[in-house]
Amino acid sequence: MHIGAHVKTSGGVDKAVDRGLEIGAECIQIFAASPRMWRVPTIKDKPLQAYHEKMAESGLGPTIVHAKYLTALGSPNPELVEKSRKSLSEELAQTERLGALGLVFHPASHRGAGLETVFDQFVEGVHEVLDNAPGDALLMLETSAGSGDHIGSKFAELGSLIKAIDHPRVATCFDTQHVWAAGYDIVSEDGLNETMEEFDAEIGLENLRSVHANDSMRDRGSSVDRHDNIGEGLIGKEGFLNILGHPAFADVPFYLEVPGFEKDGPDKPNVDLLKSIRDEASA
Ligand SMILES: [Zn+2]
Ligand SMILES: [Zn+2]
Repeated sequence: MHIGAHVKTSGGVDKAVDRGLEIGAECIQIFAASPRMWRVPTIKDKPLQAYHEKMAESGLGPTIVHAKYLTALGSPNPELVEKSRKSLSEELAQTERLGALGLVFHPASHRGAGLETVFDQFVEGVHEVLDNAPGDALLMLETSAGSGDHIGSKFAELGSLIKAIDHPRVATCFDTQHVWAAGYDIVSEDGLNETMEEFDAEIGLENLRSVHANDSMRDRGSSVDRHDNIGEGLIGKEGFLNILGHPAFADVPFYLEVPGFEKDGPDKPNVDLLKSIRDEASA
């Protein structure tokens, strides 16, 4: 189980490796492009080559790429769906060039249309993206906190989509804060066992391929997406001790998306804390 964090790519994608190493990360998550604009520029050859060299030298990995926040494959707005399919295809192609494990994206909102209504369009969208960007990189649906008609706050919803997509390159990213806010108990030992049994029954543990490790500022079941630093939120050190000790997560990479103790994003103290919890869990 590698423990890493989301890091910035400003100055070139290879700089993300430097930033990861500075905070003690064992793996990194990056954006392939600005998450709030539609454009996906092709990563230039020089920084890409430097990235590959630094990755090989450092032994970091696997990298995952986070898709744009704009993406909404299940939107009732056809123009938005078209843009989402195009940008996800372009991001997945960049993910492939980076040799990354995969691209994580938010299933996003159906805007009140109901999942049933947009279900086929969503499945079709994922297939189009995979066809447009051939290779090995996974396309990972992220668990959602569930506010504003967001798809994927229930394992049954994600499971039904994944079964219908039925593709070896499709998997999930488990965000601890979102799963907690969606109402699942991942803190108590019994609660976590039950939660992971449900995950296995609905989605399949083989489809658990990455974790966003975030503590929560908000209550379980609040549906509110607010990340906290490890140990400072309602999941707490005890919760992470159970999570990191649970066999379902044994071979899955963890990526921090926490605000940071200096409010400057994932930092060394958070990485170190999660690593020490990992040590304690395996002791
Ligand atoms: Zn996300
Ligand atoms: Zn979040």
